[in-house]
Amino acid sequence: MLNDLRSITHSFVQEPSLEMALASLVTDIKSALNSDCCSIYLAESDQSILRLQATDGLNPKAIGLTQMSFDEGLTGWVAQREEPIKIHNAKRHPRFKNFPDVQEDEFTAFLGVPIIHRRQVLGVITIQQSQARFFDRDEEAFLVTLSAQLASSIANVSLRMKSESTYVEHENNALVLKGVSASSGVGIGHSYLVQTEIDLSDVSLRKVSNPEFQKTRYFNAVEATRADIKKMAERMSAHLPTQALAIFDIYLQLLEDASLGNEVVEKIDKNWCAVSSLKIVVERYVSEFEKMEDPYIRERAVDVKDLGRRLLKHLTNASSQHKTIPLAAIIIAEEVTASMLAEVPRDQIKGIVSIKGAENSHAAIMARALGIPAVMGLRDVPLLQLDGVDIIVDGYNGQVFTSPTEAIVEEYKNLESEDLEFANQLKLESDEIVETADGKRIFLSINSGMGFDGEFAEQEHIEGIGLYRTEYPFMMRQRFPSEQEQQLLYQQVLSDFIGKPVVMRTLDVGGDKQLPYFPIIEDNPFLGWRGIRLTLDHPEIFLVQIRAMIKANVFTDNLHIMLPMISDIGEIDEARRLFNQAYLEVQDELRDADAGAVVPKPKFGVMLEVPSMLFQLRHLKGKVDFCSIGTNDLTQYLLAVDRNNDKVANLYDAFHPTVLNAIKMIADVTKEIGIPCSVCGELAGDPGGAMLLAGMGFTQLSMNTKNLLRVKWVLKKTNSEQLTELADDVLNCIRPDQVKFRVNRYMLNIGAAGILRAGK
Ligand code: PEP
Ligand code: MG
Repeated sequence: MLNDLRSITHSFVQEPSLEMALASLVTDIKSALNSDCCSIYLAESDQSILRLQATDGLNPKAIGLTQMSFDEGLTGWVAQREEPIKIHNAKRHPRFKNFPDVQEDEFTAFLGVPIIHRRQVLGVITIQQSQARFFDRDEEAFLVTLSAQLASSIANVSLRMKSESTYVEHENNALVLKGVSASSGVGIGHSYLVQTEIDLSDVSLRKVSNPEFQKTRYFNAVEATRADIKKMAERMSAHLPTQALAIFDIYLQLLEDASLGNEVVEKIDKNWCAVSSLKIVVERYVSEFEKMEDPYIRERAVDVKDLGRRLLKHLTNASSQHKTIPLAAIIIAEEVTASMLAEVPRDQIKGIVSIKGAENSHAAIMARALGIPAVMGLRDVPLLQLDGVDIIVDGYNGQVFTSPTEAIVEEYKNLESEDLEFANQLKLESDEIVETADGKRIFLSINSGMGFDGEFAEQEHIEGIGLYRTEYPFMMRQRFPSEQEQQLLYQQVLSDFIGKPVVMRTLDVGGDKQLPYFPIIEDNPFLGWRGIRLTLDHPEIFLVQIRAMIKANVFTDNLHIMLPMISDIGEIDEARRLFNQAYLEVQDELRDADAGAVVPKPKFGVMLEVPSMLFQLRHLKGKVDFCSIGTNDLTQYLLAVDRNNDKVANLYDAFHPTVLNAIKMIADVTKEIGIPCSVCGELAGDPGGAMLLAGMGFTQLSMNTKNLLRVKWVLKKTNSEQLTELADDVLNCIRPDQVKFRVNRYMLNIGAAGILRAGK
């Protein structure tokens, strides 16, 4: 059964169109279950109508025509109840409705299973049988499993159909893809695909009109692959037994015209592009090999896949060599990283689309810091589908348009200029000091570390750096930066902010922040070797960084050093010991070089972002000079929601009353023990979040530059007593939406509707 499931899903995703995929799906299911009929109905966009899209057993002429609402017939009932329904004798059932066009008179037994993706009913699969009987448990389980496996693929193709039908009158292929909004704003440009490793599953099928050129591309790729394999065989000949070397001969044979070659060329002659042709042929071979009983032959599927990948690499490399960065570039990647963004001049990046990631992934935080609209979590979208096309990133609604019509572009250009006008207005009204309307002072600083031009453009309106993420410069290199390199970098930042505090956080890698030269592969990266855990295990990395920081601070004396991911007081003691050691070393070194040098000792603090610290707060007394709340991680750990996983993005919410109560507890205890506490997670940069934090008694907030202007604007309109009342009120709420309702109502009362619309 598992083999059947695997091969059915495999053939489904391989078909070039939804119509063909559904047609082969119904036939495959009918034969796997030995039923007399299988049909698929898909829900229309308004979610109340089902339409017959494929059938093997009913009247094929009814395809596309027969439709029913969710409250009609047995199929509608499956969609309405969102669960499988099996019926012994359908015609006798009170919900049965006769649809004469489908000609189902001969069928009696019925089993319907809903297709559900992200809580939405996308359609229904039905099987029917002439003989009156109940379909058994195995048949039901098979269909339920298949439906769950196919749901996300169907969701994306349905989305495409929806947009095609919406824009069909504009005669184009506009697609709209739904993801998670990661940074607000509108980005209009041309896609710039940054690929690490690509796979045939990333390819979407495409027809073209230049077969001769496609053949040349394919033959060149074959030659290059053949050369690679020969080189590999030579290299390995000294290390592998002759028997094992035979694998290279198999690869070379597969490349011959008589094997894959001719079939790929045949597909190209049918106008499929070289990459699509390769995908069709390789995936068919793989699926056939995988069906084989003989384990040796089944194993060959792996070889064909590998060969396909190699050919694909050469095919796509050839085209990417000529790739220039568009002047208005939309960066597209499986997972956007700091170094990818660093490769493209800032003013050319108009938008970001990341297949992986969610609202509080570090890629999203980077996008917001750079003020670039971004959409993430476009799960199941083949990457290459986004290559070489015009794109609009709608960061407000988390959607991406590919090949948009002129009308859509026009609409978004208008929105873009409204945004610009609003941002300029905020700038005009911005000044350095922030006080609530009744005179309560709030200190706002920025989160930084990206090192892009203009990062400190608003410097005179900034009261310091509340979080400098030192890992970003580490991520943009090919090796660990030396002590001297780090010193120069930190010195630059500290001297840009002379007279203002700069909080530098020690290296916080792990989780979704990887160093290209120090990969950490773990099953649960956010619960693993992250932040201080890693640097305490590598004192040589930690000490070099602390020494570089202390040296950089000698002339400016405005440095605060902060430790990430502290979950235990012992970690603070251990880090303090290393900090003291580094300080003494630097003192000795500088004393030798310059007898009069005084080395200032930076303030020493910690991030509060792991829930275990909530119950250790009083032990911080005497151990740290300050602390700062990382609401991003605190939210993920308190709610047990991976901040990087778009599947649970709807559960991740820093406005959850649990998170807010934890923050309030930190505010109260740190005040009681006299340790200054700020907030530097994304909640502080959300205008509504900043209001609540100010209402809880925080007077120091740190956020990205773009949000700074919005937060300033809002706070100046508030009244501190009302903020305290608001904060007290929301702490008693049960759900995040109740909190947001109260916050938004207050924002509307103070005339901040524009800020609310501006989003993240
Ligand atoms: C946080 O967790 O809130 C934080 C500021 O750190 P980061 O987002 O870099 O993990
Ligand atoms: Mg954190």
